[in-house]
Amino acid sequence: MTTVGILGGGQLARMLALAGAPLGLRFRVVDSVADACASQVAPLLLADYTDLDALAGFAREVEVATFDFENVPAQTAQWLAERVKVFPNPRALALAQDRLAEKQLFRALGMDTPAFEPVDSRAELEQAVLRIGCPAILKTRRLGYDGKGQFRLRAAADVEPAWRALGGPPLILEAFVPFEREVSVVAVRGRNGEFRTWPLTQNWHAEGILSASLAPAPRSDTIAPRAFEFARQLATELDYVGVFALELFVREGRLLANEMAPRVHNSGHWTIEGAGVSQFENHLRAVLGMPLGDTSARGTAVMLNWVGELPARDPVLAEADAHWHDYGKSPRAGRKVGHATICAPDSRQVAATLERLGRALQREAQVAPVLAALGR
Ligand code: AMP
Repeated sequence: MTTVGILGGGQLARMLALAGAPLGLRFRVVDSVADACASQVAPLLLADYTDLDALAGFAREVEVATFDFENVPAQTAQWLAERVKVFPNPRALALAQDRLAEKQLFRALGMDTPAFEPVDSRAELEQAVLRIGCPAILKTRRLGYDGKGQFRLRAAADVEPAWRALGGPPLILEAFVPFEREVSVVAVRGRNGEFRTWPLTQNWHAEGILSASLAPAPRSDTIAPRAFEFARQLATELDYVGVFALELFVREGRLLANEMAPRVHNSGHWTIEGAGVSQFENHLRAVLGMPLGDTSARGTAVMLNWVGELPARDPVLAEADAHWHDYGKSPRAGRKVGHATICAPDSRQVAATLERLGRALQREAQVAPVLAALGR
């Protein structure tokens, strides 16, 4: 019996464990909070990520360790990697933890990014604003997620509030990109270097948090091959094993790399019902050295995120093309508590279901941009 260890016990760990059950896998999840939602489906080791005594026991119990959370301290990942196989490797994890190092690597690999400048002092912020101009976004280099640790500067006068809001930790100032759309590559690389991508996904955010995804992203014949090639180069450079996501902005036919997530990703949740093999199963196959599965889409898929609280469940259950996911979390503002995926071979059918659900759940604003992208 093979046991997989997961650092982080949120919904990603939960969906990994659910995907691993048919493969006969067991799981052990580490989290520092007792009600981590993965603990409802897999045994939880309640420990801090710096508690090396607890982690020593964990390392003895698992064949391979992976992450549901990229902000596990890099030292912990390194320490674990000296005791058990850890995928993705600690270098890839450390790189993705630092927005500056990540963008520097994207550039070194020949990928475009929004203009950026490192900021370590108030004076550097003023210089960076002069060089980059406004609007711009000031971000913490580390520990930012779901729009947290970010401040938008509309004009030079915003330097003071931006510095007051974020000043202290190492920062990065980025040009604000007036993108036409956001897309992501969700990709998987096996231990033997085999590389696959799911179809390009188009994403919409609300208040910095993913709101909806559509796959395959419409009108992406020219951009998808470039995005996939870049993802492949990045994975090869990092000797990456497992699933990762690369988030990109599209502007006037150009692709600008925003960030990489070294784990299964919210924009890949649609793959559970919408692809041959899901991102969760393929991540497990990759880290265990099993053959990778089919990443092609079964048709068109739309994923709607439930943020803060769940909408009514039954209208979703009543739809033949819709699938309900409740993460078993208590509601809280800004918290991802579940999602639904609508998928069918015919995109018009997906659009019709989406329109009905938008009305039934009173989520018209959430579904409107997706309906527009589907030509409805
Ligand atoms: P991030 O945490 O960097 O993924 O940012 C969350 C969201 O904020 C992104 O998905 C975009 O919608 C928006 N955003 C972040 N950086 C930029 C940027 N440089 N220009 C425009 N929008 C951005």
